[in-house]
Amino acid sequence: MIDFSPSEQQKAFQKTARDFAQKEIAPVALKYDQDPAFPAEIIKKAHAVGLMNLTCPKEYAGQGLGLLDAAIISEEMNAACVAISGMIGINSLACGPILAGGSDAQKKRFLIPLNQSGKTASFGLTEREAGSDAGGLKTRAKLEGDHYVLNGQKCFITNASYAALYSIFATIDPSRGTKGICGFIVPRESPGLSIGKVEDKMGQRSLNVAEVILENVVVPRENRLGNEGEGFKFAMEALDEGRVNIATVGLGLARAAFEAALAYAKTRVQFGKPIGTFQALNFMLADMAAAVESSRLLTWYAASLADQHKRYTREAAQAKFYATDTAMRVTTDAVQIHGGYGYTKEYLVEKLMRDAKLTQIYEGTNQVNRMVAGGALMR
Ligand SMILES: Cc1cc2nc3c(=O)[nH]c(=O)nc-3n(C[C@H](O)[C@H](O)[C@H](O)COP(=O)(O)OP(=O)(O)OC[C@H]3O[C@@H](n4cnc5c(N)ncnc54)[C@H](O)[C@@H]3O)c2cc1C
Repeated sequence: MIDFSPSEQQKAFQKTARDFAQKEIAPVALKYDQDPAFPAEIIKKAHAVGLMNLTCPKEYAGQGLGLLDAAIISEEMNAACVAISGMIGINSLACGPILAGGSDAQKKRFLIPLNQSGKTASFGLTEREAGSDAGGLKTRAKLEGDHYVLNGQKCFITNASYAALYSIFATIDPSRGTKGICGFIVPRESPGLSIGKVEDKMGQRSLNVAEVILENVVVPRENRLGNEGEGFKFAMEALDEGRVNIATVGLGLARAAFEAALAYAKTRVQFGKPIGTFQALNFMLADMAAAVESSRLLTWYAASLADQHKRYTREAAQAKFYATDTAMRVTTDAVQIHGGYGYTKEYLVEKLMRDAKLTQIYEGTNQVNRMVAGGALMR
């Protein structure tokens, strides 16, 4: 028999996350959307109650949770505000390559102080000419004695303005394609590292996203992850977990939009009846509920494979594109159910619809995630 109920411990995690999200995040979500800012105080509180660095092992000062436990927590956080929650959760992507390819000494040296302090990091793969085709990146790493010299420019890097350290991907030889890419741990204070343009975005307004400029940045050889040429593999491993996390972003958004739409459909009266009793809207609500629940099951399935140390690249990609396409559709329908009011900034669903669009784009566009999932099917 398959039981989809969370364990008692998972219910406790869920309650902690829900209580925190509803008390600390939800009440300020619209304010942070209208007036974007770094949610420093909220991050500090999330760190204090153990809601950061969820899957990082305890020996490196993380919470040591499985990905399924983390998905249950993240859904609650994302249902309150995906931008603020994204700033709290960014370390899981940023530190993913270090966990995938770093030595024990590197993990102790960089992750323990980061996690103990509650500071945040960034994942730097994308460049202007290398988005979906990330393997075509141009940032150069040149070995000079006991260190590498990095030159190039990263764009769309989440949390770049506030990161204490960066996982940066650069090539030692572009002609070697992905086999020339190395991963490096680059501390913020490295001379030559600066922050460029900060993006002004449609949604997820408080998710800081900026360029990282690298001009003759000296990185000690001991900051390289694994062997030369292994960086792309570590980036892709981090993205498997990252895609499950983005599936929880889609799930949280879709759930929040569905709950808002259902509540509105029960109370808004037209033609003498609650609008949710009209079949056109009633069927829309039924489809929304089914899509939210399907997204949750696909997300939990991918996470549970990760927890069993099984390959889950296809399942992570499938959960990501399904849950985030669901988020776009459900938030759009939620606006429709609210009628004209849904199109105003007074109602949360307007923000949710703008926030949802990004989920189909980052962490690999949904076209790319379908390529990953479809490619795996044909192998
Ligand atoms: C807010 C935000 C935060 C981000 N955070 C980070 C981060 O922290 N770190 C990081 O490294 N990156 C980050 N990114 C980058 C993100 O992962 C890229 O934007 C994404 O991978 C797409 O790349 P692109 O924007 O260059 O689009 P392009 O690759 O130019 O794609 C344009 C369109 O073409 C389609 N397309 C491209 N190739 C194919 C193909 N082979 N088949 C079919 N369709 C295709 C795409 O699906 C898309 O619709 C972030 C992006 C945003 C917007």
